Amino acid sequence: MDLQSKLAILADAAKYDASCASSGTDKRHSVGGRGIGSTEGMGICHSYAPDGRCISLLKILLTNHCQYDCLYCVNRSSSNVPRARFRTDELVQLTLDFYRRNCIEGLFLSSGIIKSPDFTMEQVVEVARSLREDHDFRGYIHLKTIPDASEELLARAGRYADRLSINIEMPTTEGLKALAPEKDDLAIKRSMARLRLHIDDGKEAAKPVPIRVLPGARPRPAKAPRFAPAGQSTQMIVGADATDDQHILATSAQLYGSYRLRRVYYSAFSPIPDASRGLPLQAPPLMREHRLYQADWLMRFYGFAHDEIVPRGQGLLRLDVDPKLAWALAHREQFPVDLNTAPRELLLRVPGLGVKAIDRLLQSRRVRRLRADDLPRLHVPLKKVLPFVLVDGHRPSGDPVLPTPAAAPPRALPVQASLFA
Ligand code: SF4
Repeated sequence: MDLQSKLAILADAAKYDASCASSGTDKRHSVGGRGIGSTEGMGICHSYAPDGRCISLLKILLTNHCQYDCLYCVNRSSSNVPRARFRTDELVQLTLDFYRRNCIEGLFLSSGIIKSPDFTMEQVVEVARSLREDHDFRGYIHLKTIPDASEELLARAGRYADRLSINIEMPTTEGLKALAPEKDDLAIKRSMARLRLHIDDGKEAAKPVPIRVLPGARPRPAKAPRFAPAGQSTQMIVGADATDDQHILATSAQLYGSYRLRRVYYSAFSPIPDASRGLPLQAPPLMREHRLYQADWLMRFYGFAHDEIVPRGQGLLRLDVDPKLAWALAHREQFPVDLNTAPRELLLRVPGLGVKAIDRLLQSRRVRRLRADDLPRLHVPLKKVLPFVLVDGHRPSGDPVLPTPAAAPPRALPVQASLFA
């Protein structure tokens, strides 16, 4: 099979994986003529498909042969799809060629499982090793790791990759057992815990060490082996089973807390050809995936607990309003919030107020009391915020009203961008 055909099959097979944003890595570049690639350079941009997925990485599988039979996966052993497999040197060359043509800023590499988890992982690591050591590649590398692979291979993967990820796949252990019976929930979590230890050790070792023997000497950063500087992430499939948003967010909160993940990616289940009868016939609304990302954001940056966002007994996030507005409407007794006296934690709960706007408000009110006409200057979105706040010159009249969503023009369904379009 020629390279072009392999590329067509294996790039297409990789499109179901959502966890590929390249944020959070170290800044590196090849200015000065050493090496190739950059994680920040001019001319290479982050680019996102209409559904929010990053497409500026070469997102590809080493192979779509797989000995596992996860029901939701187009590459499962019982699936009737054309199969292909790259040699490691082919994939290295392909990455370099795409990079030189300015099509990509890095590589997102995953693989079906062939022969054994260790055999597959060795091949995946070899691609990253060759890029870094043989070609001095400085672009971004994200490796999808295989939870059952040996600890030594995971450790090697972290030396070459910016980010590692292990898919948790399903939000619950029962869901995983039902849809991916060969996968082991405990093995996945054990591997996440190992990665966390390696990442924590790497960070600890990289802290600046003061030289105590020389008075007044400046701290010098210790030389530490880099280990996945962009941390680890995971992906969860949404809508392939009946798990509701409350359980999904509870699982995410537990993953963030226990393994210090950088991101949990939510991937709305997409129906696949020749799907099993155990799967729904229709994809969940894409808006559900979007609301989960918003809720996830509230947990990570706005101090919301997962069970506040979806109160017990409710199950699903509202699709018509974002989770922060939904929370505010369900807790009207907390409003209006006084912009001149409220603590930061309370300001974070006001619909429409983002972290940056709150920092600007807090800075300004140290100097003098805020007035309503200061708000546009502080980039506060008045329409969203005014019904929920009190400020000199403004008092909301009555209960906050639900904003009527503007009728959106009909939009074509987003599709994953293709390398061959
Ligand atoms: S192990 Fe990965 S590639 Fe193989 S069937 Fe399961 S999800 Fe698909």
